[in-house]
Amino acid sequence: MMKLTRPLEPEELKRNKDALTQEYAKDKKKAVWRKDYIVEPLYKSANKKCAYCGILIKWNKGNHSYFIEIDEEKQISATIPPGESDFLHVDHFYAKKYAEDKVVEWDNLIPSCPACNYKKALHNVTRFPIINPYNEEPRNYFAFNTTLTVKCTIDNESQKKASRTIEVFQFRDRLFEQLREFQWRINESISEIYKGLERALKDFESGNISKLNEVNGQIKKLLEHGLPKSKYGPFIATMILKHNYFPYIKNQLSLYNIWNDDLTRLEKQLKEISYE
Ligand SMILES: [Zn+2]
Repeated sequence: MMKLTRPLEPEELKRNKDALTQEYAKDKKKAVWRKDYIVEPLYKSANKKCAYCGILIKWNKGNHSYFIEIDEEKQISATIPPGESDFLHVDHFYAKKYAEDKVVEWDNLIPSCPACNYKKALHNVTRFPIINPYNEEPRNYFAFNTTLTVKCTIDNESQKKASRTIEVFQFRDRLFEQLREFQWRINESISEIYKGLERALKDFESGNISKLNEVNGQIKKLLEHGLPKSKYGPFIATMILKHNYFPYIKNQLSLYNIWNDDLTRLEKQLKEISYE
């Protein structure tokens, strides 16, 4: 989860809000929020990812036919229809059941993957608050160390909110395998870069700089995996920046003027979303 910025409310929504709210009141099965002018800015604002878990999600302009809106009442036990696991859903932060008047309230709409939408389902955020990535900075609540954990330095209420967020979405179970796989791949890549750097430094002593430039390319590629737009960006960013070898690689490349502005910019982007 990372902090997102909500774009301005679309003018078309402002104009149609009352009519859409009434339309929904008449027919609760109608997904009145499924409009390009609503979904597109939401989708873009979350970097085409689920605002909650960070998985990449699909959405095609003008085509809402594959969306199966499931009644919140049934969502808890619902299984995701085949082929629909990575298509964008619009989650209502305040569930429709408790806040019918907010079905097209701009601040209440969150782009989500089906799994997160189903897990959250009827959860009552008024009684049991969870983190809204558009309103709060998730990094103030979470830490990451092989799995997503709650920061121990925050107050009790915030700790409760953070662990409730983890529980509601079942983040630990759902992310465990994927993150372990990513951790393994990141470790492999960094070890390769480290070894490559050692060889490049030897070559440099005999006047050959080409291998050092290769290392520059490799580290750039690696850092790009931890960008906000990347799948699980904040986790990957943390894995890279916290890796034991990372400071050494950066130092060596800086010493030989290979660590350039491009890499500094990338590192800064990772720092902005990584967990401590
Ligand atoms: Zn999700």
